[in-house]
Amino acid sequence: MASPKCPVCGASVRTENLSKHLQSVHPREAKPEMVLEAERKATQTVRPPPPRSFSASLPRNVIIVVLILALIAGGAWVVATSPAYSAYTPDTPVTQMCIEHSALIRHDHTQLSIDILGAARSIPDNVGRTTCMRPLHTHVGEPGRIHIESPVVHEFTLGDFFLVWGQTFSSNNILGYTTNSNHRIVMRVDGVVNTEYDSYVLPHGTEPTVTISYEQF
Ligand SMILES: [Zn+2]
Ligand SMILES: [Zn+2]
Repeated sequence: MASPKCPVCGASVRTENLSKHLQSVHPREAKPEMVLEAERKATQTVRPPPPRSFSASLPRNVIIVVLILALIAGGAWVVATSPAYSAYTPDTPVTQMCIEHSALIRHDHTQLSIDILGAARSIPDNVGRTTCMRPLHTHVGEPGRIHIESPVVHEFTLGDFFLVWGQTFSSNNILGYTTNSNHRIVMRVDGVVNTEYDSYVLPHGTEPTVTISYEQF
């Protein structure tokens, strides 16, 4: 780099020495702005150039960041799709669960039929499949077949199905029909009278037939 000339005496002075030169050789002639300018140039000259390594390593930094993000995303995907992972617990109410037909750790069925005063009541298709799919739901073309599908260890009761359906069921009320002095509700599981009613736990591994009848006696 060519040395600048002293603005006072015209001598060639190295940039980094100009400020000192002005102050020591021309303490009277040197204007403050000359000294400042000299110092500014000296600072620019002395300051080390931006490290080459920074710009050279930038692509590598980007690659590392991308790799880390990919690992995080991949890990999240593995966790989220693993059957062992679920946002739910065994205690999550059925009406707070939304499931998919995948990553299930249980898939059972119970056949349900309801009889009111001698007339069969049909259970609609797609119960539990409106806002999202609930673990208890019905499909199309399988009248009365309750699907029990859960991504997490979870027991469900017959009452849970009615909750999802939005209908009443207890020992003294079925679909709004209440028991009284001459009407009763009889529930049977595979033909055997069962008095658990809505608290009946839908079983694993078998497909029982549950009948609920509201009858006069
Ligand atoms: Zn099913
Ligand atoms: Zn299903």
